Amino acid sequence: MEKVVEEKVVERIKEAKKLFEEYGFYLREKFKDELKELNSAIEETHRFMKETKLPDLCRVCAEEGKCCCRPWVAEEFDVYDLLLNYLIGVEVPEEREVEGLCFFVGKRGCRLKVRQVICVDFLCPKAEELLGKNEIKLREIEGKELELAFILKEKVKKEVEKLRTFSHVKDKHKSP
Ligand code: SF4
Ligand code: SF4
Repeated sequence: MEKVVEEKVVERIKEAKKLFEEYGFYLREKFKDELKELNSAIEETHRFMKETKLPDLCRVCAEEGKCCCRPWVAEEFDVYDLLLNYLIGVEVPEEREVEGLCFFVGKRGCRLKVRQVICVDFLCPKAEELLGKNEIKLREIEGKELELAFILKEKVKKEVEKLRTFSHVKDKHKSP
């Protein structure tokens, strides 16, 4: 079962890479400002998390094999989530690095930058305890990241659909 999930994930990564190779240059240019804004929001989340020492807690937890990055999460990423990662500059991995957890877990944490709501939102009781009052502030900061990613994903999706239709029509009218 896990193998089937993994094959599906790798297939989607390859599809996203193909889209990136085909339209990446154009999409990066067209959504330059949105990508910059999303990147800043993600950096802001990371910065605040570091301040709260949450990454240290999660690192220890991962070393003990209790990390919450479960294998099924990787399947939640569709082609456009992965394409967004390429567009923001992530070299999306095509091979697993850590067994038994989400495909995207690396030896030094998550190997993606634009993540799922569950990845950004989930806090175990230990993490909640560590954060205390900072949890509300973290939720606010993360909210911006999630909203920007959601809006940009929809825009990119529409644009890719348009580009695909256009190239399909062009191919049809090509002289043999
Ligand atoms: S959020 Fe909790 S369960 Fe998840 S990695 Fe961090 S400490 Fe571990
Ligand atoms: S944070 Fe990264 S490694 Fe963890 S579940 Fe999400 S995508 Fe997977």
